[in-house]
Amino acid sequence: MRRPILAANWKMHKTIGEAVAFADAFLPLVKDADDVDIVLAPPFPCLDRLGQALGGSNVALAAQNVNPEAKGAFTGEVAPAMLLDVGCRYAIVGHSERRALYGESSEFVARKAESLLAAGLLPIVCVGESLEEREAGRTMEVVGRQLEESLASVTADRAAEVVVAYEPVWAIGTGKTATPDIAQEVHAFIRGKLGERFATAGDQIRIQYGGSVKPDNVDALRAQPDIDGALVGGASLQPESFAELVRLGAA
Ligand code: PEP
Repeated sequence: MRRPILAANWKMHKTIGEAVAFADAFLPLVKDADDVDIVLAPPFPCLDRLGQALGGSNVALAAQNVNPEAKGAFTGEVAPAMLLDVGCRYAIVGHSERRALYGESSEFVARKAESLLAAGLLPIVCVGESLEEREAGRTMEVVGRQLEESLASVTADRAAEVVVAYEPVWAIGTGKTATPDIAQEVHAFIRGKLGERFATAGDQIRIQYGGSVKPDNVDALRAQPDIDGALVGGASLQPESFAELVRLGAA
């Protein structure tokens, strides 16, 4: 059975003080949640202090991005070993905001995933179609291609360490969640592709849904056979609401 995973993507929200205050309020709320992986991805400047606040708890730290290179003249970038050093366990790669706003290609995402695995970090690889692509009936084509290209460097023996997040772009931050049936259809498609690519190891890969997940819709999403958790933006910013999502999204 795949262990559910609930991850908070704070995007460009929260100062260090706010992140630590979140941890102080959140940790007691989830301290007994031992059948779910809980992940917080704050902005880079919060990683060190938030990591200290989470130390020894059941909540893991994640980065929202990474550069695939180990070191060098890459102004503004952060390497996998630096994330490991600051206490990260995961890093999100290929988020649609990075693909759309910063022109990141699936090939670049694949290099990030490869470098993360090599450094001992777990990649959360995001894929998802735009509204225009969905309306043109191209969802499976787009998601299939992103998936294949973004996981190009992952080998079957490391596949289980990867988390895939299906995030339809039209559902992110819009309040429009995919219905459980729509989400499950794409998750099942992704599961099939992972099976073709990694054989039985594909079955171990967790597939999160992301896009306006809230306490009032997470239950129905989690009830779907191929939805193994959620990647959450807006509803992860308040400790009570993310703790509620953890409770409802657990096994
Ligand atoms: C996200 O950006 O990963 C996300 C799912 O955001 P939201 O939950 O706010 O739609």
